[in-house]
Amino acid sequence: MMVGGLRSPELMAEIVANHEADMISLSRPLIREPDIISTWQSGERKAPDCISCNKCLEALYKGQQLHCAQQKPLAAR
Ligand code: SF4
Repeated sequence: MMVGGLRSPELMAEIVANHEADMISLSRPLIREPDIISTWQSGERKAPDCISCNKCLEALYKGQQLHCAQQKPLAAR
């Protein structure tokens, strides 16, 4: 399994096709866009909106609910 900053769905597919990894693991992109996999499956190959700033971890350190710090909370949208 490969993890760490992969943000291009084309690169992820290439890594698996080339047997460099059996699977790709995502975390931060799914915090920001929980539906990104469904988006890719529908054919839209956009890059994740996550900018890898790691500010979502600050919420965890403060005992807050995990969320993307670059987005407004769902209740405020
Ligand atoms: S806070 Fe930053 S690293 Fe975390 S999900 Fe949002 S954009 Fe990605």
